[in-house]
Amino acid sequence: AGYHAHNLLDRTCELSMARASSKQREAASAVNGDGSAPVRESAPERGATPLRRQYLEVKARHPDAIVLFRLGDFYETFDEDARTAAAELDIVLTGRDMGKGQRVPMAGVPAHALEGYLARLIRRGYKGAICEQVSDPAVSTGLVERDVVRVVTPGTVVEPGLLDERANNFIAAVALQGDLAGLAYADITTAEFATTEAPLLTLPLELERLGPAELLVPEDLDAASIVGALRPQGEDSGPSVTAVADSNFRLSTARRTLLEHFGVSTLEAFGCEGSPLATQAAGGLLAYLQDTQKGKVGQLTSLRTYSPERYMTLDRQTRRNLELFGAGRFGGAKTLLDVLDYTKTPMGGRLLRRWLGQPLLDRDELERRLDAVEWFHASSIRRENASALLAGMSDLERLVNRVTAGTATPREVVSLRRSLEAVPAMLDLLAEGGEVVARLREELHPCEDVVAVIAQAVNDDAGTAMGHGGIVRPGFSPELDNLRSASRDAKEYIAGLERQERERSGIGNLRVGYNKVFGYYLEVSNANLSRVPDEYIRRQTLVNAERFITPELKEYEALILNAEERLEEMESAIFRQVCRQVADEAARILETASAVAQTDLYRGLAEAASRNGYVRPTFAEDGVLEITAGRHPVVEHVVGAGAFVPNDTALGQAGSALMVLTGPNMAGKSTYIRQVALIVLMAQVGSFVPADAARMGIVDRIFTRVGLQDDLATGQSTFMVEMVETAAILHHATRKSLVVLDEIGRGTSTYDGLAIARAVAEYLHSHPRLGCKTLFATHYHELTALAEYLPNAVNYNVSAVEADGQVTFLHRIVPGGADRSYGVHVARLAGLPPPLVSRATELLSELEANDAPRRGGRARPQAAHSPQLPLLPAADDGLRDAVLGLDITEMTPLEALNKLYALQQQAREAKDGQG
Ligand code: ADP
Repeated sequence: AGYHAHNLLDRTCELSMARASSKQREAASAVNGDGSAPVRESAPERGATPLRRQYLEVKARHPDAIVLFRLGDFYETFDEDARTAAAELDIVLTGRDMGKGQRVPMAGVPAHALEGYLARLIRRGYKGAICEQVSDPAVSTGLVERDVVRVVTPGTVVEPGLLDERANNFIAAVALQGDLAGLAYADITTAEFATTEAPLLTLPLELERLGPAELLVPEDLDAASIVGALRPQGEDSGPSVTAVADSNFRLSTARRTLLEHFGVSTLEAFGCEGSPLATQAAGGLLAYLQDTQKGKVGQLTSLRTYSPERYMTLDRQTRRNLELFGAGRFGGAKTLLDVLDYTKTPMGGRLLRRWLGQPLLDRDELERRLDAVEWFHASSIRRENASALLAGMSDLERLVNRVTAGTATPREVVSLRRSLEAVPAMLDLLAEGGEVVARLREELHPCEDVVAVIAQAVNDDAGTAMGHGGIVRPGFSPELDNLRSASRDAKEYIAGLERQERERSGIGNLRVGYNKVFGYYLEVSNANLSRVPDEYIRRQTLVNAERFITPELKEYEALILNAEERLEEMESAIFRQVCRQVADEAARILETASAVAQTDLYRGLAEAASRNGYVRPTFAEDGVLEITAGRHPVVEHVVGAGAFVPNDTALGQAGSALMVLTGPNMAGKSTYIRQVALIVLMAQVGSFVPADAARMGIVDRIFTRVGLQDDLATGQSTFMVEMVETAAILHHATRKSLVVLDEIGRGTSTYDGLAIARAVAEYLHSHPRLGCKTLFATHYHELTALAEYLPNAVNYNVSAVEADGQVTFLHRIVPGGADRSYGVHVARLAGLPPPLVSRATELLSELEANDAPRRGGRARPQAAHSPQLPLLPAADDGLRDAVLGLDITEMTPLEALNKLYALQQQAREAKDGQG
């Protein structure tokens, strides 16, 4: 397991490891001495203040987190944590005396600004342990009790400000044994909790799909050395890795954690009873969540065991090459996600992202999705009505979880109610859909009881904070209403008192006031003191006036103050009670949320289809791929309305499995082959596709590989990478796969590259396990020879017309191979000096003239084995060696130009010499 773990998890997160762990461990050991005994209590801490001792106890329990220690209005950090925080957060490092002669480094942030600072720490790979005052400072005598209420880690943030509302924030855990892996993941903000047991090989792919913010690995996997496949070279994204105690991952412990949490006696219902690794990963993950959330993970009400085999695997290169989520070369700033996303709710947005990353293999399920999309597609009024309803829905998934976790504000509870109130109308709308959307209707629950309890108890305009009154609706609690009116009466009495006492005493400037020390008082200026009534009791003497109270005034005052305190208590008790009642229905609300998300997504996909002119694809069992007038869903937006040239595709019939697409640079080869892959992917997500018609067999996997990119800047050892990736395709593709290869073999010398490209194409075509649908784009027009001896290979090229020395690319894919590459034309476009371009044109015709006889020989039967691919046939040996000796990847454009100039000189001299 150790060996595999190396290869697979490799390089996952060296960086964050290095950050989160080593720094933190350093910090920890600074406090924790040898790492075992709690704190340096013995020597240096003798004579420490009680506060210091309290801090050190807390810190000892959280050595690997930055402890944010609540002191009044600040969260303070101490010692090494303070140095780290000061540096990372740009806050001032100060010090504090905490015992005899002990000055301790300290850095703090204001309590109200915690979220922002926390976000920065988390983003930089740290964990934050939030230590609150848990006893009331006003009543406790001596030291206020403090304890850590939550450890915030990248995978366990719940603060809305720290989350992307359109993406899940997953935390994942792995357990490995032999060739098998268990992988569990959860999003504590949406209550999703799932686990799987699968071949180790699928692990990196699953992790890539999920993109967890944090990855838990058992300590015995030696997390520091788990390095490799997850993060592409040079990228420092990827999860932050946390090594956790092995014991939590032990089968018996993990199983018990799960059984106890769910209150069940078997894991049968969750589907993982027979999958030890799935159980271990899920149990290990749950234990960590319980630990960091201090037990508050009630929102995780079920566990789903799934099988990755139900889905199409998309590896990282394919995701990237197809620009599903990350923009790049083709879409400019746009991605497929952007083009398809017409969802109205964050839940719908998250679901779209998930579906795009996880296309289906199950035809029936796909037809069901497409039925639902089609139903919305059929009527724009229906889409508009649904859109209006969805627009009023908040993020039910995350709201429910905040309610369950006890962190929801009154305003959020009201918006939960409003969202649920839209459900009956949604059901009405879906009722017209009959069978097609029956599944959605079954999962949508109006939750009338939840709506009712919130409506009765919580004010519509309740705010975000507790303790300001006005949360609970009048009429909900007679006791509360009585208190309110008593308090109101008392306030009115005091408000009326000033006028009443002025009249009674005849003191015109008598004033009622309030201050914190004396409470309510009556103030009389010195000039009027003689007229003060007898029952006034003097309380305070000022320079110009005296202040008095009366027993009656004090009675009302007590009434008001008590009432206010009681009101606050009662309101928050009632609010908590409402939240508990809502939380009891969490499962139904979550199911509703999921149905809302799906409805939103079907509607959104239909909207995209309608706006962009997509059609419903049909699935066939014969494994063919036929597209009429297909378009690239993203590029068509980039080139502008009407400018995109649609193209057909026919692959998989007898005689056409391997399509060799030749044509000049910039003609549209890459765009075309990606467009075919994207159409297949969209169909298997359940979306309509950009074409006039599309018919296809279900594809088990889409592979894409791109040879040396046009920009050489990233070309460090690119060829090796290219070959590794190509090898992976050859090992994993099946007859049912779709393979898209773009300029394979370009990263090495021409002969090498050509030879490899050709051998790869032959292998894909002829290997008994393969013969899969393959699109091979190349600027080596020599590869068109393949079609002459491979029965299922066909040539296509991208047409261009040349008139008056100007070439226009038509972007039209036509049968037949390209016969030339228009490189000179591209050279002109790139701005090479006109005399140079003319000279190159001249040289080209010479080369072509010399090349003619050899070209004729290309059709010889042994062509398959002939490495003699003509490239520089007419060049004299010295010139050829000079050209072959160039390391183009290492040259700057300027060097290249200079070299080209020198070569040309050399060629001229050679020519003159001959002439
Ligand atoms: P190649 O791979 O042949 O070098 P690309 O696929 O990168 O060429 O296409 C170059 C540019 O041509 C694209 O960025 C796009 O702007 C344009 N293009 C490609 N295909 C089409 C098309 N079918 N219709 C219109 N413009 C296209």
